[in-house]
Amino acid sequence: MIIVLDGPAGSGKSSTAKALASKLTLQYLDSGALYRAISYQWIKTGKDLSLFDNLDEMPLTFTYDSGEFRVFIGEEDCTAAIRSKKVSGSVSKVAANPTVRAFVNLLMRQHANAHPSIADGRDLGTVVFPDAEVKFFLQASAEVRAQRRTKEVLESGQNASYEEVLQNIKERDRLDSTREHDPLRKAEDAIVVQTDQMTFDEQVAFCVEHILSKTSLTIE
Ligand code: C5P
Repeated sequence: MIIVLDGPAGSGKSSTAKALASKLTLQYLDSGALYRAISYQWIKTGKDLSLFDNLDEMPLTFTYDSGEFRVFIGEEDCTAAIRSKKVSGSVSKVAANPTVRAFVNLLMRQHANAHPSIADGRDLGTVVFPDAEVKFFLQASAEVRAQRRTKEVLESGQNASYEEVLQNIKERDRLDSTREHDPLRKAEDAIVVQTDQMTFDEQVAFCVEHILSKTSLTIE
C-alpha cells in the first residue's frame, strides 16, 4: 500500500502526509529529506562529484518513529542539519542528477514494499510509484508557500527573511519543473488539492475522505 503526495516546495505536503500517516497508521516517507541528506553529505565532503558514483557505499538510513522522520548518515543523525539554508540552496541541483534519483527511488521502493506507507515528493505519482493507490498533488501560490516556510524556519530557531525564502522557493520551483530527469509534474490521475484558501485541518480532512473512499484503510 502506497499513497503519494506530490507538489512544489512549501505546499504543505510533509505536514499533511504526517497527519495522514498518524490517522491511518501508515509509515511516512519523506523523499525530499533523502535528497537533502545526500546534498548535506556532498557539501560536507567538499562537493566531490565522485560521491554520486559511489552512493551504494553511503550509509544513508532513515526511521519513522513517534511521528518523526529521521535521517542518518552512518551514526550521525542529520535530521536537523539537512534543513539548513546551505542544503536548501544546493538540493535541487543534486536532485537533478539521475544517479542520485535512481538511488533514492530504490530506497523508497524497498521501504514501501515492506511497510504500508504515505510518501511525499515531486515525482512519486509519475515516476517512483505510478501504481500508487491514491495520488494527491498539492498546490499553493509561491507567496503563500513562502509565508508558511518562513514561519516554519523561524519556529525552528533559524534566521529567515520572507524575501529570501520566496526567492529560494521560486528558484527551486524553476529547477524542479524544468530539469531533464523526472521533473515536478502532476500525475494525470492525481487529485489536485489547492491549499491557498484551506486551513490545515480542511486539507487533511479532504485527503482522508478521498483515501477512505479509494482504499480499504480505516481510521483508528
Ligand atoms: O520536499 P523538500 O522541499 O524537502 O525537497 C527538497 C528538494 O529535493 C526539492 O526542492 C527537490 O529539488 C528535491 N526533490 C526531488 N524529488 C522528490 C523530492 C524532492 O527532486 N521526489
